[in-house]
Amino acid sequence: MREYLETLYEGYGQRFSVDQLLHEVRTEHQHLVIFENARMGRVMALDGVIQTTEADEFIYHEMLTHVPILAHGAAKRVLIIGGGDGGMLREVSKHASVEHITMVEIDGTVVDMCKEFLPRHSNGAFDDARLNLVIDDGMRFVATTQDKFDVIISDSTDPIGPGEVLFSENFYQACHRCLNPGGVLVTQNGTPFMQLDTVRNTAGRMNGLFADWHFYQAAVPTYIGGSMTFAWGATDPALRRVSLETLRQRFAASGIATRYYNPEIHLGAFALPQYVLQAIGKPGND
Ligand code: SAM
Repeated sequence: MREYLETLYEGYGQRFSVDQLLHEVRTEHQHLVIFENARMGRVMALDGVIQTTEADEFIYHEMLTHVPILAHGAAKRVLIIGGGDGGMLREVSKHASVEHITMVEIDGTVVDMCKEFLPRHSNGAFDDARLNLVIDDGMRFVATTQDKFDVIISDSTDPIGPGEVLFSENFYQACHRCLNPGGVLVTQNGTPFMQLDTVRNTAGRMNGLFADWHFYQAAVPTYIGGSMTFAWGATDPALRRVSLETLRQRFAASGIATRYYNPEIHLGAFALPQYVLQAIGKPGND
């Protein structure tokens, strides 16, 4: 394999030179490739879609963890759905205030191969004593568990294949059931310039279910097509309105060094462009 062509979109996509193929396998659930690219470092793809690269993963993982956890302010129990590469787990585990992390990943081979070939993603977090790693379908887990969580992070593939169910109404309803009072669900929700239906559908499913729902965004270079949106479904509207001063205090107290996240980026990320607001049926960013 000399180059890797992403096949997420018809007629448009990104190409990586494959400087060294590190691993390729068809797992029980998906086709997995991990390769070395001189510019982006080690890259993992599933079913033809780029999942993560060493070069830019920090943006995505910092924004899907520190925004909900610092907005919540007292998160003790965190659930990660998906996240097999371990990057989300690494960032969640940096929060000393978090006492328990459950991670539900459908494909154990992704975990094993990323531990071996993308070790800097998890950076030892799979050995964290707070972790309960469950290899199962995230939909089945949230539909059946009696556990409750303060923050739920859906770090899934795109809404195709095994990830499709993680964008369903049943999934959002089940996550809502699994949240403690004051809890919040955040999810990977695609790049609206290319996947506007994904935000439109999620908005329709969150509206009327969560006391406060919106999206926030960050540009992740290898999630092509512009900024990626993250869905926000909170049981308490106050969480999205935490003051800059409070976020600054919480961020400083966490002692976490970041490369992308800061409190100003946190608040600014919730300001969505007009075409996205129109797609989700909101007149403004309130
Ligand atoms: N950052 C990537 C993105 O934005 O597309 C996601 C990365 S992470 C590798 C996605 C993970 O979701 C994969 O490990 C995949 O196996 C997992 N996954 C897909 N469907 C799932 C399901 N129904 N339940 C649990 N995990 C699932």
